[in-house]
Amino acid sequence: MTETIPHVVIIGGGISGLATAYYLQKQAAAAGTAVTYTVAEQDSRLGGKIASAQMDAFIVEGGPESFVTRKPEAYELCQELGLQDRLVGTTSSGKNYVLQGGKPAAVPMDPVSAIRTPLLSLRGKLRVLKEPFVAPRTNPSDETLGDFIRRRLGHEALDNLVAPAVGSIYLSDANKLSVQVSFGRFAELEREYGSVIKGFFGMMKARRQERKASDAPKPPKQAKRPAFMTLRGGLHEMVDALVAELDGEVLTDTAVTQLRYNPTHSQPYELLFSDGQTRRATAVVLAVPTFAMADLLADHDPDLAAALRAVTYNAVATVTVAFNRADVPDPFDGFGVVVPEKEPSPLLAIEGMSNKFKHRNPADQFVLRAFVGGGRRQDLISLPDDELIALVRRELKTIFGIAAAPTLVRIFRWQPAIPQYGVGHLQMIDQAEAQLAQVLPGVYLTGSGTRGMGIPDCIRLARGTVSQLLQTVTQQAQLEIGD
Ligand SMILES: Cc1cc2nc3c(=O)[nH]c(=O)nc-3n(C[C@H](O)[C@H](O)[C@H](O)COP(=O)(O)OP(=O)(O)OC[C@H]3O[C@@H](n4cnc5c(N)ncnc54)[C@H](O)[C@@H]3O)c2cc1C
Repeated sequence: MTETIPHVVIIGGGISGLATAYYLQKQAAAAGTAVTYTVAEQDSRLGGKIASAQMDAFIVEGGPESFVTRKPEAYELCQELGLQDRLVGTTSSGKNYVLQGGKPAAVPMDPVSAIRTPLLSLRGKLRVLKEPFVAPRTNPSDETLGDFIRRRLGHEALDNLVAPAVGSIYLSDANKLSVQVSFGRFAELEREYGSVIKGFFGMMKARRQERKASDAPKPPKQAKRPAFMTLRGGLHEMVDALVAELDGEVLTDTAVTQLRYNPTHSQPYELLFSDGQTRRATAVVLAVPTFAMADLLADHDPDLAAALRAVTYNAVATVTVAFNRADVPDPFDGFGVVVPEKEPSPLLAIEGMSNKFKHRNPADQFVLRAFVGGGRRQDLISLPDDELIALVRRELKTIFGIAAAPTLVRIFRWQPAIPQYGVGHLQMIDQAEAQLAQVLPGVYLTGSGTRGMGIPDCIRLARGTVSQLLQTVTQQAQLEIGD
């Protein structure tokens, strides 16, 4: 039998698919494993939700606009890709606001502002302070974020702080969102320390003790990394740099329409593409939304496909609007304002784009980005452009008093946008993967539909997928040699 080099087909050319290809290439080379791959993306553009547009002197981000550095994977990938000089950090930790009575109220960031905040009544504040004395939940199963916060911090903290933030970050209803996927660390603190507040203090104490107990000389003090970072020319620079590193086959305008399996074949998978081409593969990575995974798996395991299809996705439109700074009477100074459901505004959130990063627009411009749609008002995203812009301008006038005509407007519609991680989502993905290993060994799930949706999460998941995948590829190569 002639030896076949293992081939991997990666379906989806968003950050998850591209990072999978990159780490596959890199880890295989490091291990001395020969492997080839194809990335197939249905769109004419790579990057998926990452979509940066240069418009004159503005960089407009249609989807993600920065990544958190607390989860290091995106930062590390940028370093690996030689983008360190292109990274830009937020200049401060930034103020965040919640709309209350039609006007932004600052989210408290320290004990004094927490005492003064109008976002919680005296009763609501006392309820938050009671948290260390609330008995921990003994049932380890998942629950909704809403139930978790209500139990630990009270309904005001949920309704006035957490639910609006979650509505804009995850485009989700806190009363449906899984706590394990969204605020898993908080749930762990409750389990470990009996309380979230006690847990924070406990962690800080443990760190101090660790440092004291360690004989190792103190590492030189490193400059603190900004909480959020982006790239000078827009986040798409990360996509472009990734693509430039890839030496495998990368196809655009190529939807994968069918996955066939023949276990007797040395390359057991055959992928059918929308243009009629096919590729054989030793292993396949599905880096696509869960409903697209379901489409490809339905013929092989209808129950598994049904579980993946049950994950719903909300749609959202981002509307970026710039104004001459001189035309804005009292510019909003925050990174963002989130809108609680009880507020009459139909917006989900407004981001202070020019407050967060200074390099994306000329200095005399003031830039905001409104989020419209989500779970609350899906209908609004299909409004014609002029009506959507009129709606956003009306809201900006009511909330910030901005009556001037914008100097730039750009709409991006994402339909579907963001997966809704319901209670038990992680367990469902665990089961789906275990089932898949039985039915279609060598087929892997990755990406934002699985275990985390920020860019760093997608990169971490891609790395993990590649580690598993390489085992399959190596085993296959050994079998071939044995033959
Ligand atoms: C408006 C918005 C703002 C966001 N803001 C942030 C932020 O500031 N920071 C952050 O970290 N994250 C943010 N996110 C989340 C983050 O952008 C996404 O979770 C992440 O980019 C998803 O990457 P992915 O590769 O898993 O999926 P996607 O980007 O959705 O890529 C999947 C790809 O698969 C392709 N595909 C689907 N089916 C097929 C098929 N059958 N054949 C071939 N190709 C197929 C699709 O065309 C798509 O390109 C935001 C998301 C949105 C929508």
